[in-house]
Amino acid sequence: MPPCLLLTWTGMKNSSHKNPSRLDSWPQIADPFAAGLFPQSALVISDTPLFEPGVSLCRSLLCEEPEARSICRCRSCQTDFVDHPDIHLLSPSPHTIRVADVRMAVQSLLYRPLWSSVRIIWIQAADTLTPESANLLLKAVEEPAPYVHFVLTTNNPDQVLPTIRSRCQRFVIADPDSQPIEALPPDWMMARPLLPDHVVQAARFARKQFRQSHHRQWLGIWEELWQAYDALAANANQDIVREQLRRLWTRR
Ligand SMILES: [Zn+2]
Repeated sequence: MPPCLLLTWTGMKNSSHKNPSRLDSWPQIADPFAAGLFPQSALVISDTPLFEPGVSLCRSLLCEEPEARSICRCRSCQTDFVDHPDIHLLSPSPHTIRVADVRMAVQSLLYRPLWSSVRIIWIQAADTLTPESANLLLKAVEEPAPYVHFVLTTNNPDQVLPTIRSRCQRFVIADPDSQPIEALPPDWMMARPLLPDHVVQAARFARKQFRQSHHRQWLGIWEELWQAYDALAANANQDIVREQLRRLWTRR
């Protein structure tokens, strides 16, 4: 399991649910929640507002009684989110996230969590980290204490430091009704240059197949497609990526 988790979140219904692992839109994807295997960091990407799903995500991590199946009465779930001692929120002030704020958040990680089993740093609009802030954060992300989780949210993932992105595992959580899936051109993976949009389209197709069939094979394909997307974004050798995609796509 990579040390970070990248979440792609495009439209979410029922965000009033307390625990995102119970959201209809991603019951299978959220398996790590149930198993307590949630990766140590998350980059949540969306073209929709991310506060509500971010709160749900962090709350589910902070919950002291994760087995509770209805409204949870634990101290963490009953406390106003911003007052919880084990979460540190970072946001642009006013346009960028300052290095002093990141330093303070990173220092808070030296202390074990007070209430929950985890300590969370939630970085809102992670694309607004200054280069200095991002590099400081990177050091923390590289060697997190076992109780630490990083949650980065952004509408603009291309502007997040690639070395942080590359440490992220990606989850896609989308409202299937919000965006129709366009047909992929035949032999899309042979295009020169290989278009990241096509990889995204293919990932959405795989996700839809997974939702309809519940075959985990599609989940694997979907994850690998996102890895290919990241490789493209990091300017990896296109021929190598193309070959990986060709093998992956013929495996369907
Ligand atoms: Zn709880």
